[in-house]
Amino acid sequence: MGLQSLTIFDAVKGLREKKFSAVELCRALLERIEAVEPRVHAYMTVDREGALVAAAAADKAYAEGSAGRLCGVPLAIKDNLSTKGLRTTCSSKMLEDYVPPFDATVVARLKAEGSVLLGKTNLDEFAMGSSTENSAFGPTKNPWDLGTVPGGSSGGSAAAVAADLCLGSLGSDTGGSIRQPAALCGVVGLKPTYGRVSRYGLVAFASSLDQVGPITKTVRDAALLSAVLDGYDPMDSTCVDQAVPDYQAALGQGVQGLRIGLPKEYFAEGLEPEVRVAVMAAVTRLEKLGATIVPLSLPNTAHCLSVYYLLAPAEASSNLARYDGVRYGFRAEGVSSLVPMYMKTRAQGFGPEVKRRIMLGTHALSSGYYDAYYLKAQKVRTLIKGDFDRAWEQGVDLIATPTAPAPAFAFGAKTADPLTMYLSDIFTLSANLAGVPAISVPCGYSSKGLPIGLQLLGRAFGEVDLFRAAHAYETSEAWGQKKPVL
Ligand code: GLN
Repeated sequence: MGLQSLTIFDAVKGLREKKFSAVELCRALLERIEAVEPRVHAYMTVDREGALVAAAAADKAYAEGSAGRLCGVPLAIKDNLSTKGLRTTCSSKMLEDYVPPFDATVVARLKAEGSVLLGKTNLDEFAMGSSTENSAFGPTKNPWDLGTVPGGSSGGSAAAVAADLCLGSLGSDTGGSIRQPAALCGVVGLKPTYGRVSRYGLVAFASSLDQVGPITKTVRDAALLSAVLDGYDPMDSTCVDQAVPDYQAALGQGVQGLRIGLPKEYFAEGLEPEVRVAVMAAVTRLEKLGATIVPLSLPNTAHCLSVYYLLAPAEASSNLARYDGVRYGFRAEGVSSLVPMYMKTRAQGFGPEVKRRIMLGTHALSSGYYDAYYLKAQKVRTLIKGDFDRAWEQGVDLIATPTAPAPAFAFGAKTADPLTMYLSDIFTLSANLAGVPAISVPCGYSSKGLPIGLQLLGRAFGEVDLFRAAHAYETSEAWGQKKPVL
């Protein structure tokens, strides 16, 4: 096994024990990227030189005894997170040449701990999509089967982890964009509680739903990254000033005594039989490990899709108003006055899905329709959150569901009908609407050898319980040890 296949935990251990240097580790990843990336297309930008400079600095820090918690660890960042001096495109023509003058808080925190940033990963344009097919620069391929999608919108970040093109990555999750690609690529993905992680420097999609989180090979690695990412940031007014618990210490606690709810609405029509079998086997395993499984109902689940696809486009239409060709980003040529310049810039700069969202959102917010659509959706959102509140009141600690209704699908299978694509998010939307944390962990493979994910949802700021249960499950099975052949 080459250095590129290490977990973050083992890489840090190896670096501390001087088994290899950060430069050697970085080179192993860059070689792997050279060999495999042309087939996977996980990256938008690979920062070869920057990574090697950071790796040399990491080796110096180890030698001087000043190494941070992630010193020398090669990571990749979704290309909707600002990186100072490094192009941040959101996989959109609109930002094709945009070089941010600042780092997102999460990026700054990773750098402050000495990590080595390999580059920026591909996504659906402005994080709108579930397959990376909406990237303006070509889709990412699923490392398990290059004819299938990696999921989205953080498809590049998930594929990069699965294909050993980085040791871990950051994604963003507005309706499932960390968890669904993690499930489809056979890796771990965590959407933290709303307010747990700073979004300063995350290009906004839907601000009441967006969260940044880790995509990793193991639950332990997700906990390691969370320890660095989580916590108050005065630059994001929605970031909550809450102490960050010792996640590593929690990992060993097991599931003994945890009550895990099984919501019947998530095991209904539309769920592929192979996914149901794998997820139910995982639930049985959790029970054997000491958890109590309780039947549950989240009666407003059926409304999640409609509520999300009103609120997210409404917020997006407002957030994306800033791409007007004036201050930064793409500007259309051949126009001599302001309004035609706006129109041509936005017509040429945005792809079809982004335009669809802007139109849906503008309509939902327009006078005469606001009450019927946007306001109504906000009220139903409160009912959805209420379902979760009641579950916790009943003494449920965690909720187990499938992450996605089916394993990875073929390219083009869902592009003709946006609604079928939206249905890929059917199980992940509720966590964003309710603001609760949720993790996806591999729980088996389909008959075609494609990964399947188990989703666990927890109380707000209850990441510790998620890590406990997901780690106990993961270490009782060997799914994570299987690798895609590339
Ligand atoms: N797939 C969902 C959408 O298209 C969620 C995207 C996300 O979480 N960023 O909106």
